[in-house]
Amino acid sequence: MKTITLPDGRTLTYELIRKRVKNVNFRAKDDGIVYVSANSRVSVKEVERFLTERADFFFGAFERLRAREKRSEINTETVNWLGLEYPVRIIHNARELAVLDETECRVFTRLGGDSEYVLSLIQRAVAERFAALCTELNAEVRTELERRGLTPPPTRITIKDMSSRWGSCSYTKGHISINIRLAAYPRETVLSVFWHEYAHYRYHDHSKAFYDFLLDMYPDYYKYNDLLKEK
Ligand SMILES: [Zn+2]
Repeated sequence: MKTITLPDGRTLTYELIRKRVKNVNFRAKDDGIVYVSANSRVSVKEVERFLTERADFFFGAFERLRAREKRSEINTETVNWLGLEYPVRIIHNARELAVLDETECRVFTRLGGDSEYVLSLIQRAVAERFAALCTELNAEVRTELERRGLTPPPTRITIKDMSSRWGSCSYTKGHISINIRLAAYPRETVLSVFWHEYAHYRYHDHSKAFYDFLLDMYPDYYKYNDLLKEK
């Protein structure tokens, strides 16, 4: 990741990924970073000149992405939970609580008019269920490791809201972070992220050995993890 200062004082952060691509590709993402892929013949200077010339375009794109995210955040009609969409039903009573059950999400509130408030109740309900799910999946991974004669490393799990990654593993600290946004995806997809992060305890890169181990442990890895690439 690198940040450049534009002639007008604004700063623009980009990440250059070297790939065997014919053209230089630029992609602004909602984390406010421009992801650039280019082959090794394209110099950093050329990339930065292009970024500088097209800066207004990228700032505009960040703006649009943020606006889109904000709009989707205010959706209080449906809840996406483990790959399914649940309708939201507002029930006027003072419990100030959302309950996500098998068929719908019931929101008990007297302040139903305020969508941001309703959303916060829904998010709390989702976060609670997701935390329980993560405890379950973590135990599942650890049991499987043991069954195969491998010692599961001591691990603390933290659930976080992250904009650019689904999970991360600090293998030196014994700490795995899982993105709360995974709550919208199927259970198997969340499990695939758990396996991915656990595999990083053995392999600190994305080498072939890493994926061989990952696929051996969780053969359906691609089937479910690929769902995360569609976004
Ligand atoms: Zn990884």
